[in-house]
Amino acid sequence: MNLNKITVDDINVKGKKVLVRVDFNVPLKDGVITNDNRITAALPTIKKLIADGGKVILCSHLGKPKNGPEEKFSLAPVAVRLSELLGQDVVFANDDEVVGENAKKAVAEMNDGDVVLLQNTRFRKEETKNLEPFSSELASLAEVFVMDAFGSAHRAHCSTAGVTEHIKDTAVGYLMQKEINYLGNAVETPVRPFVAILGGAKVADKLNVISNLLEKCDTLIIGGGMAYTFLKAQGKEVGLSLVDDTKLDYCKEMMEKAEKLGKNLVLPIDTTVAAGFPNPIDAPIEVEIVDSDKIPADKEGLDIGTKTQALFAEAVKSAKTVVWNGPMGVFENPTLAKGTIAVAEALAETDATTIIGGGDSAAAVIQLGYADKMSHISTGGGASLEYLEGKTLPGIAVIADK
Ligand code: ATP
Repeated sequence: MNLNKITVDDINVKGKKVLVRVDFNVPLKDGVITNDNRITAALPTIKKLIADGGKVILCSHLGKPKNGPEEKFSLAPVAVRLSELLGQDVVFANDDEVVGENAKKAVAEMNDGDVVLLQNTRFRKEETKNLEPFSSELASLAEVFVMDAFGSAHRAHCSTAGVTEHIKDTAVGYLMQKEINYLGNAVETPVRPFVAILGGAKVADKLNVISNLLEKCDTLIIGGGMAYTFLKAQGKEVGLSLVDDTKLDYCKEMMEKAEKLGKNLVLPIDTTVAAGFPNPIDAPIEVEIVDSDKIPADKEGLDIGTKTQALFAEAVKSAKTVVWNGPMGVFENPTLAKGTIAVAEALAETDATTIIGGGDSAAAVIQLGYADKMSHISTGGGASLEYLEGKTLPGIAVIADK
């Protein structure tokens, strides 16, 4: 995988109209943005293009509108917040058809360094199917296309891929470049020892990740709900723990693969069990810690145990590169968050390059206060997982190589 993409540092946008695909898919509650991390993450690229004298036309999706335009998925609040963060006007082109009269007029009136935000790209039904004429309409607004929406790069949509059929001058933004550098280099050319830690609920969600990472890493650590299917595949009693009986053979295969490749596949040696899943999820819960081969038939494993915390932390200590995806237990519950916290702490303490692959583990690391101790926290859950599977992401593939 050669990921030597043209970046915003390599192009000259002075006086040019630049269409930038950003990820402004922010959480909204009653029209108010509850977390503006994604807007902040896009600022370096936007500021760079403004400083270079480009005419910056931004586009993004927001939420999942089903049947075209819906007021609650309007990007209007994002335009306001972005304007505050940039300290300059952002013209919001409010067209239900995204590229309509307002957008065309706003773009025609732009001066160098101006910013226009288009309406939610998913207001057009073609968007998620990557169909015309939306791709060519989007492309008609600009001369240069910059992709900076890593969280959407695993989808071939009009605004992430189709548009490049018509605009040949392409580049990645700083956010994309950072994701590619960390996730790409970590997996393809890691500084060794390379330790990968996987957790989360289900084995089935991460079949290809497990298989690909086994080939790339030196040590693969498995915790969280998915560990119990591996333990059962070893013939252990797992009680009421989360198990996918259809994946027992797969787990055996992976354990054989690890042995054949001479890789360490590390599973929990003890586990925190309770009478059942907490209800509600953060309710007080009575737990005990048992060895992994002594899980009582009437108990459910909900977190790794203390010996496993130490074992995993030890494996991380000697690592030079660590990639982590998925919590070690039901971290939403304070009693069952200890394993996830222990792993976050181990990563915070190591000198290794530490990369958190999106989704729940990123949320856990941020929520637990370890965000600034990590080398990189991916902004894309699904996209980072597909990256770890070794897949080529369409939104990266369409951007020109250097
Ligand atoms: P995303 O797919 O969004 O990136 P993720 O990969 O980080 O998320 P998921 O596979 O979604 O993680 O799993 C996270 C969920 O797994 C959490 O809600 C957590 O409570 C649950 N979980 C972790 N360990 C267990 C367990 N032992 N039993 C049941 N559920 C568990």
